[in-house]
Amino acid sequence: MSDCIFCSIAAGKIPSDTVYQDEHLVAFRDLNPQAAVHILIIPRVHLASLDQAGPEHGPVLGQVLLAAGEIARQEGISGGYRVVNNCGKSAGQTVFHLHFHLLGGRDMGWPPG
Ligand code: AMP
Repeated sequence: MSDCIFCSIAAGKIPSDTVYQDEHLVAFRDLNPQAAVHILIIPRVHLASLDQAGPEHGPVLGQVLLAAGEIARQEGISGGYRVVNNCGKSAGQTVFHLHFHLLGGRDMGWPPG
């Protein structure tokens, strides 16, 4: 989508601190980190939110989680990290291109706010 900031990042039109990419996914550091390690993992395909995903997106959603584990190992946080998806405004979603936050490098509370 031409007016989607994360589509532009995935296409390399907007710079990002990319830590991983392949034909299906891009992962880059969050501009406003909420933990020592805060990386966003996005599918290249534009989906506004997890609510838009269907069975055909199962493979890419699985790839996101496998990439999260691999990136956590690369970043040295495999002992404790969180993968978060905010789905919808009331859950805190502000960018409407499906993304997963990989957070680690600090202690975290539960339940999340
Ligand atoms: P959410 O609130 O779940 O939609 O998360 C959106 C995230 O995108 C926030 O943590 C922002 O800090 C982050 N963000 C927005 N624009 C950029 C950007 N250009 N590069 C990196 N992270 C961004």
